[in-house]
Amino acid sequence: MNQLSDNEINGIYEMICKYHDKYLKQHGVKLPKLIDKERNYTKDALVLVYLAQDYPKTRKTSKGELTRFIRQYYPDTADVQQARHLGAQKGWFIVSGTRGNGHMALESGEYKLITLEKPYPAFKGHRIEETGDWENLERQYGYRCVTCGSEKGKPHIHWPNTITRLQKAHIDPNKPLIRGNIIPQCEKCNRADRNNWVYDERGRVIKLANPNVIKRSDKEVRWKVYKILYQEFNGRNPNE
Ligand SMILES: [Zn+2]
Repeated sequence: MNQLSDNEINGIYEMICKYHDKYLKQHGVKLPKLIDKERNYTKDALVLVYLAQDYPKTRKTSKGELTRFIRQYYPDTADVQQARHLGAQKGWFIVSGTRGNGHMALESGEYKLITLEKPYPAFKGHRIEETGDWENLERQYGYRCVTCGSEKGKPHIHWPNTITRLQKAHIDPNKPLIRGNIIPQCEKCNRADRNNWVYDERGRVIKLANPNVIKRSDKEVRWKVYKILYQEFNGRNPNE
């Protein structure tokens, strides 16, 4: 078992927060508080931090090891259940050896944090919209992904071995996933998108949602963008 200093715990938790904000929040994955009202670390946060050590090079961790770690803060802890709950119920992509996961060989009672960039695969997230509205929306789109056209329940157009599942995707990822901001996308399109774009209601990209996308554009394009912004902001220093 590793001992973690308060600095290390805070540092890892901060990193988790950044990933959560960027990749997981919009799926309804719940970020545990680091510290509770009594100013103690919460068990959920401790388990998450412990599993996220050296991310992305996380390692398999046994329940016994997690329990020993938690007992440093909660000496009476009998058996740590947090890792399982963080996965299935709260949406963190933590796999366990007890659940017959298809991701890797894990012994019974072992856990591993797979990634902080995707939610737990079976996680349904929060239901902001009423089911009736969502069904109505799916119907309006002919039960097809607005971006690639793959049909719900049928083989995906580009991945024939994958059955298409439709997800509520953002029109504008910088706004909440509520009525008026939802289009149906298949998992493949929704995942690839990474919240980079704003769409119109026909699933066409109309603008950037994530300014970092510009970094992978060609230099010529970046120069033209720079010119546009230089003119718009009169060459102002962005750090002022
Ligand atoms: Zn699609």
